[in-house]
Amino acid sequence: MYQVKEAFYTLQGEGAQAGRASVFCRFSGCNLWSGRERDRATARCTFCDTDFVGTDGQGGGRFATPAALAEHISALWPSDAGTAVPYVVFTGGEPLLQLDPALIATLHSVGFEVAVETNGTLTPPAGIDWLCVSPKGKNPLVIDQGDELKLVYPQTEAPPEAFAQLDFRHFFLQPMDLSPLDANDDTVARTTAYCLANPQWRLSLQTHKIAGFD
Ligand code: SF4
Repeated sequence: MYQVKEAFYTLQGEGAQAGRASVFCRFSGCNLWSGRERDRATARCTFCDTDFVGTDGQGGGRFATPAALAEHISALWPSDAGTAVPYVVFTGGEPLLQLDPALIATLHSVGFEVAVETNGTLTPPAGIDWLCVSPKGKNPLVIDQGDELKLVYPQTEAPPEAFAQLDFRHFFLQPMDLSPLDANDDTVARTTAYCLANPQWRLSLQTHKIAGFD
């Protein structure tokens, strides 16, 4: 049984695939926080900005089989998308708690590329087409290679230097908490300065928050 908080069609807002039409499938649950505010201070990840509890979001629900969830995702992709390759981004919560080879294979069979955005603390199934790892604090990574390493910055316990030697194609720094915009917040400027001084890293902004889409 797959538990999905929400699923919707949008543009990817962040990182190397920013601007790409995507079905976002947000799985319920995370291994680093319960999602309850009363647990935040003691959680293994404390700066989450996402509601991943339950299955009551837009397009959310419980899906008994890979075919049922793949059908739900396929129905969200436009029927007249021309030559665009259907693209689904599994996120969460932590998607690797639920994503499995059967679901990936089913989505491949109906033409989807499968992307994942993970905190990197769980072993991924084979077959993922785009693997994005976003380290959280001092939680040890079990994934040390992939397509994109996207680090929310700054994190005292997760400096960019700790990840720069890993085997990723793209390295992004993303300023923490861009919304709401705060004139006194210099996080964007500090992130920009780090990228200028360390050009291995590229700046990732949350364009969905800037442009006002989900
Ligand atoms: S790992 Fe991701 S989903 Fe889990 S609590 Fe942290 S930011 Fe939220």
